[in-house]
Amino acid sequence: MSTAELQLSSGVLRARVRQVRASSFGVAVITGVLVGAAVADLARGGRLMGVLSAGRAELAAPLLVGLMVGTALCERRWPAEERPLFARGHLQDACYLALHAALVIPLMTLLSVGSALLLESYLPWIELRPAEHLPRALLVVLTIVAMDGANWLAHYADHRLEALWRFHALHHSQEELSVLTSFRAHPLMHTTGFILATVPVVVLMPTLPIAPVLITTYVCVGTLQHANLRWTFGPLGKFIVSPAYHRLHHDPLRQDLNLGVVLVVWDLLSGRARFPSPADPVRTTGLAGRPVPVEQQVRSAGVRLMATQLAEPFKVRGRPVS
Ligand SMILES: [Zn+2]
Ligand SMILES: [Zn+2]
Repeated sequence: MSTAELQLSSGVLRARVRQVRASSFGVAVITGVLVGAAVADLARGGRLMGVLSAGRAELAAPLLVGLMVGTALCERRWPAEERPLFARGHLQDACYLALHAALVIPLMTLLSVGSALLLESYLPWIELRPAEHLPRALLVVLTIVAMDGANWLAHYADHRLEALWRFHALHHSQEELSVLTSFRAHPLMHTTGFILATVPVVVLMPTLPIAPVLITTYVCVGTLQHANLRWTFGPLGKFIVSPAYHRLHHDPLRQDLNLGVVLVVWDLLSGRARFPSPADPVRTTGLAGRPVPVEQQVRSAGVRLMATQLAEPFKVRGRPVS
């Protein structure tokens, strides 16, 4: 290769590096540091495989699988939007379900451990040891409510901060919501939520474990909200996020509303709650202008499109490589 060609190729390489978004790279580095710290700590104690399988039992429990099958049957019987079983959106989200099972569940488990290590190492004073004398049931309820508040805050940050929105946009790009859409998320979207949601656990229950069934139940309620159903949950919908309530958040014009993950209270406190009526028309979902490539616009979707969608937060738009 001539000197001129070498200079040209190194110029192209530098331009490509400049095109990788620094903030997205930063999120990836933070995630890598947390996961690395968790793996090192667990491996030292010989607990790595045990903790990973416990995490899998919580996040892929038979209860959750049963809820998904039951919800899918309800979607066929009472759909908010009529569409074929093998609609493109369903097939694409099924790819994300496979990614979730293979990669995201272990990632979530390690993020949880890594976040706790980080907090215990650098902010040990946040542990509220006297709280351990409170009744166990009260402590668990307080911790789960505070974790839900932390998840709300992470979701709010996803919408307010450009660096986080780039990862969250993939979730909002779905134009055919179904119960599977809960798994349509960039793996790096979870980092903020796990760091924030670990705070109440370290503060209130530094030495006590939360029963796995409670975590599974929490995940189940969070999964049901994407179902292609008009369910508002009636009076209970004033407290718990229903599919109709969350669908409003996926309306491209209403994304600043209904940010709740499981509890509605945080939206009420921040003036962002809008309660749907069963008589409301079914809203369209997705992102205006399709900034993230979606399966409804390309000829071949599946794993290849998923790879493109996952790379999207790292791309800089409007500055072509010269
Ligand atoms: Zn959102
Ligand atoms: Zn959603």
